Amino acid sequence: MKKIVIANWKMNLGIKESQDLTKKILSGLKKIENLENIEIVISPSFVALPFIKEIIKNFSPPVYLGAQNIFWEEKGSYTGEISPLFLKELGVNFAIIGHSERRINLKEDDEMVHKKVRIALHHQIVPIICIGETFEEREENQTDLILIKQISFALEGFRLTEENKIVIAYEPVWAIGSGQAVEPQQLQHAKFIIKQRLVDLFGFDLVDKCFRIIYGGSVDSKNVKRFVEKKIDGFLIGGSSLNAEEFLKIIEIVSKNF
Ligand code: PEP
Repeated sequence: MKKIVIANWKMNLGIKESQDLTKKILSGLKKIENLENIEIVISPSFVALPFIKEIIKNFSPPVYLGAQNIFWEEKGSYTGEISPLFLKELGVNFAIIGHSERRINLKEDDEMVHKKVRIALHHQIVPIICIGETFEEREENQTDLILIKQISFALEGFRLTEENKIVIAYEPVWAIGSGQAVEPQQLQHAKFIIKQRLVDLFGFDLVDKCFRIIYGGSVDSKNVKRFVEKKIDGFLIGGSSLNAEEFLKIIEIVSKNF
């Protein structure tokens, strides 16, 4: 499977700002070699999705569209929610699920995450499942347990086939937007724990064919190479994806080093 670099613009950019940034990124991408080795996903706010789709639709190699959330039902009385059907209609290929900002601010829990993953898979939208420990949990040596718990709740009970594609984003809560990324050895250990739990649930073969394990949390063009060396499958990038030059530098480093 290809490596993946995902931009998460959160609630930072309006439509015009998202359009401008997307255009800058695409013009920079034209100068980067080996792009066919990576999938690039842009996740703007919901309101900007159709406008960004227009800009990226003919770009080659393809740049994909990600939603920052998804709802677990297709239709009905769910004021303010966004159906997977609407996302499909817009050409959305990926959905971020269970981001810690939603878990914290909107009380999104493991059961909701599970239902969202289910509906995403049902509609061939690749779920980007965010998991990770808080600072207190790490201090209390709970990291492994938290990762195992979050993966189990999100995925237990699913029957996967080779066609199902899932991204697990290891995003320690304390590393997000803090300027303090994990140590590469911590990342390697977390990846090992995540993979072990996935193998318990689905077996080696399906884990290799269906899953990518990526890292997110204060990634920038200066530290990304250290993580690339730990054979991570890609990155979920917040702050550094809001600046075209910085985001392009990260993509260039990733494309050269895989
Ligand atoms: C994120 O919010 O998913 C994220 C990784 O943010 P940042 O890169 O800003 O830490």
